[in-house]
Amino acid sequence: MRALIVGGGIGGLAAAIALHRYGWRVQVLERAAEFTEVGAGLSIQPNALRALDALGLGDEVRERAVTDAPVGTRRADGTWLIRNDVDRLTRRYGFWATLHRADLLDLLHRALPPQTLRPGVRVREVRPDGTVVHSGGTGTADVVVGADGLHSATRRSLWPDAPAPRYAGYTTFRMIAAARPVEGAVESWGRGDRFGYAPLADGRVYCYAMVTGPPDGTGGLTDLRRRFAGWHNPVPALLETVEPGAVLRHDTYELPDLDTYATGRVALLGDAAHAMTPNLGQGAGQALEDAVVLARTLEAARTGDTTVVEALRAYDRIRRPRTQMIARRSRQLGAMADPTRLPPAARDAALRMAPASVFVRSMDPVLSWTG
Ligand SMILES: Cc1cc2nc3c(=O)[nH]c(=O)nc-3n(C[C@H](O)[C@H](O)[C@H](O)COP(=O)(O)OP(=O)(O)OC[C@H]3O[C@@H](n4cnc5c(N)ncnc54)[C@H](O)[C@@H]3O)c2cc1C
Repeated sequence: MRALIVGGGIGGLAAAIALHRYGWRVQVLERAAEFTEVGAGLSIQPNALRALDALGLGDEVRERAVTDAPVGTRRADGTWLIRNDVDRLTRRYGFWATLHRADLLDLLHRALPPQTLRPGVRVREVRPDGTVVHSGGTGTADVVVGADGLHSATRRSLWPDAPAPRYAGYTTFRMIAAARPVEGAVESWGRGDRFGYAPLADGRVYCYAMVTGPPDGTGGLTDLRRRFAGWHNPVPALLETVEPGAVLRHDTYELPDLDTYATGRVALLGDAAHAMTPNLGQGAGQALEDAVVLARTLEAARTGDTTVVEALRAYDRIRRPRTQMIARRSRQLGAMADPTRLPPAARDAALRMAPASVFVRSMDPVLSWTG
């Protein structure tokens, strides 16, 4: 049985690995000329790490990552709002992993035979019968996986009435700061702005900033240094060591809920199906879970016990409620940071009064996934 995967990001490569492990003949069509990743850091939470275990890559990820649970949430002045019991979190859910995106992409590439990867191929149209029209011609397969991200061409082809991605109200900046000791993964909340940092295995520090405002395309390192100048240590010091020109800036978009992730022989996966805000740090994790479940549901089609169409319906039934629940929670968390919806003083008072265990319990359905 043959599978064509549209898009060679984290989701597409994970789907290719999962299907390849079950014996599918797989090809990944990626529009970029090379399979490279410029991104900064990535947080892989315990559920996502279990998905990587299912792909046979969990141990290698743990070797390249810092595997501590997040330490907590602070105010811009440094006051703790939530302080996690890191050991207890790990005992309860397993390891977290923070690593450079390029390291994860490298592991995913190396898990696939080189001939399965076809860079420089832009997909233009996908049909329900498994036909894919692309810049190099036309291909057909028993199953097509649309893993082509937020602005998915697969979704445009087969979900023409799907609502367009909507702006979430903030811009996200990601960067790597020079090596320095930090207390662990921390996120700090100001009046509409947030700043997070987490150590990487080589001592450098992955940093991100979220700035509430219109999607105006402006803002860079100079602006970030000015905005966060009065924040607690080490935020200003971290920003001082970021290289100018090495800041990734993204206006944040999410995809309104789709009615289905599957039609005919085609399934959507990852951001193409459920691009979510980055507040929970679950987007890539959900793409990894999708990949594991997709390959498992398709196994019955490969062995002839069901049809591809039925197997993809089962994938949709399993994955859509969970991913849409997580997207909703991520959106709600983002709303707490928006001062026009919730005054920061009221938010901070509520967060400080609630015991940390309340937040832990609220994440239970997200983190406890076992496949
Ligand atoms: C600021 C920020 C921080 C985040 N932090 C985290 C985090 O800490 N943890 C986490 O789990 N998630 C995080 N996420 C979410 C995560 O980055 C995404 O959910 C994940 O990368 C989605 O992977 P994907 O493969 O579905 O899509 P993409 O990464 O978008 O990959 C799609 C691929 O398809 C290719 N493509 C697109 N169109 C075509 C076409 N027509 N033909 C061929 N190829 C095509 C693209 O070139 C690309 O390689 C974050 C997101 C943002 C914006």
